[in-house]
Amino acid sequence: MSVIDEVLQANTKFVEHYAARELPLRPARRLAIVACMDYRINVEEVLGLKNGDANIIRNAGGIITEDALRSLIVSHHFLGVQEIMIINHTDCGMLKFKEKELISKLQQLSGTATVTPSHFHTFSNLDQNVRTQMQRLRSHPWIPAQLIVRGFVYNVKTGLLNEVSN
Ligand SMILES: [Zn+2]
Repeated sequence: MSVIDEVLQANTKFVEHYAARELPLRPARRLAIVACMDYRINVEEVLGLKNGDANIIRNAGGIITEDALRSLIVSHHFLGVQEIMIINHTDCGMLKFKEKELISKLQQLSGTATVTPSHFHTFSNLDQNVRTQMQRLRSHPWIPAQLIVRGFVYNVKTGLLNEVSN
């Protein structure tokens, strides 16, 4: 049995006790979060959030990619989000690789080059990376200046969030 089969079994149990919830489409606390996909950041737990409080967008590194921007623009303009948090973290896998090494390794493994992904968004300085992501977001013409954007580094050893100044 694969892990997917296992979790599908868990879902059949989940449904037995599922109480239909009338959560609205818009996040109650008008917050969106872009965080690394690393499981060590349990975003809701770390921030004291309940399901329904925030839109949470996750990818490798916690990067403002084109797709993260798409989600954030929808969050703000159509779902009422007024504040955005960007969360990177210590010991991130994307700190451990170099862009060119990653791409050449994948080319070696697969025996071919590809068009996409053209960037893996690796980085060597955490604080600077968070600043870069805030700049990417702020500079977008569909992200209005009054939207609150703040960036953080999560320490996986202590659980503490440290804010990164602009
Ligand atoms: Zn990470």
